[in-house]
Amino acid sequence: MHGVCEDNLMFKLAEKHNLLRMDMERCAMGDLYYESFDLEHVHVRGGRILSKAIVETAGKIHQKIGLKAQRYFQSVDGKVSGKEATSMEDFFNREADAELSKLNLSPEEAKDVEAALFGCFKNILTGYTGGEMSNCRFEMFGAAEELPGGDLELPVEIIDALAKEVPEDAVKLNKKVTKIDWTDKDSIKVVCQQEYEADFVICTLPIGVLQRFHEQLFQPPLPEWKVKAIDQTGPGANGKYFVEWGKPWRSANDHPILIAWTREEMGSISLPQDWTRGVLEISAEDPASSLMLVWVTGDCAQAADTLDDETVSGNFTTLRLFFENDSNGFLQVKKDIGELLRAFVGDPTIPDPDHLTRTRWTQDEFSLGSYSCAKLIADETTFETNGKPLPNSKNPRLLFAGEATHPSLWSFLHGARASGIREAERILTQLKK
Ligand SMILES: Cc1cc2nc3c(=O)[nH]c(=O)nc-3n(C[C@H](O)[C@H](O)[C@H](O)COP(=O)(O)OP(=O)(O)OC[C@H]3O[C@@H](n4cnc5c(N)ncnc54)[C@H](O)[C@@H]3O)c2cc1C
Repeated sequence: MHGVCEDNLMFKLAEKHNLLRMDMERCAMGDLYYESFDLEHVHVRGGRILSKAIVETAGKIHQKIGLKAQRYFQSVDGKVSGKEATSMEDFFNREADAELSKLNLSPEEAKDVEAALFGCFKNILTGYTGGEMSNCRFEMFGAAEELPGGDLELPVEIIDALAKEVPEDAVKLNKKVTKIDWTDKDSIKVVCQQEYEADFVICTLPIGVLQRFHEQLFQPPLPEWKVKAIDQTGPGANGKYFVEWGKPWRSANDHPILIAWTREEMGSISLPQDWTRGVLEISAEDPASSLMLVWVTGDCAQAADTLDDETVSGNFTTLRLFFENDSNGFLQVKKDIGELLRAFVGDPTIPDPDHLTRTRWTQDEFSLGSYSCAKLIADETTFETNGKPLPNSKNPRLLFAGEATHPSLWSFLHGARASGIREAERILTQLKK
């Protein structure tokens, strides 16, 4: 949960169901603040760990750039249409160079700060941006409002809390919607194996799914203005790759490993083979096992998701516990992760992970992305337009919700919930007319 505060509808839901405890793990600041990260193990190639002073210098620059980008939207009163679009990448590079030029460092120190900034923090910012920074609009970065209060890990029981809020049997699981026919003025047909008729439909399909399938899904087709807004929205690219070793190679699986590629390496990425350059962090998931999580972001995540799977057998307990159906290994991806660790931890004896279970959200037909971002062609109307009902707001029958339809909380879980409530209220208001 981003933003532990009363304005956060997920906070309110968790509070209502007594799911919040004072001893819960909490980070007082968000991802733009470098102190939110455990930065004691930022490795450069060969195994050397960057000093605290170097990482802090880079972290402060990252923070300054992120906060400056975030404040821009407010500073222009949310009016960005008509202004020339700058990519987050160009903004980052320009600001980083300006900040680096102010420092008085030896050539070796300067190289290390650059590696921490471009090889490590830039991936963190890409994760925050949602998609590859070269395709995301700087002017829109701050349009997704960061609520105050820092981050908190919600307990998994939040799912039960959500389920309790809807009547039993109201949710039909494992039904793929293949058609939404809104031709008839009085009722809408939704086809998902069976056919359902409804007075109103709230469509919460992810933006990537809408982009890929809207022509097949909607009858009549969505109007041009709606398709335009959907196209201005980026579906986002992030991946979570869980890896486990049969025989642990770490003396204690108790801290994350961060990677600092050189600026040159980050400037010449060839995909899909260089996908590990988009690894944001390799975190230690469970001190009692060798389970780690490789978080990959941006175009590198998209490319890694396309790499072929090859079946191998394995018997690795922790992953099996969480992913019952897991029996596949992914040889190329496992080799790449092994190589990354050997090169940056500086230990040629580290084996490739024995087991890998990964999300492939950019390829999964039910997500086709992760969380939305603002493409270079987006503006302040994009997310609001995603949420506009059809045929029009006076006669809303086919409604749209989901995180990508919230004008100020897009990308966030609480934005998704707020948008669902917004549309439910729209229907109630309509019924009262
Ligand atoms: C790695 C990662 C980390 C995140 N961390 C945070 C965080 O810390 N805090 C935060 O606030 N947010 C976070 N988010 C974002 C948050 O998860 C999303 O904003 C939220 O889940 C969006 O909800 P939604 O209902 O809009 O879309 P989704 O959760 O994507 O739901 C859409 C649903 O539509 C279904 N669907 C797709 N196609 C069809 C079809 N044809 N027929 C039927 N059903 C279909 C999908 O299966 C899915 O269940 C994170 C996201 C990711 C990927």
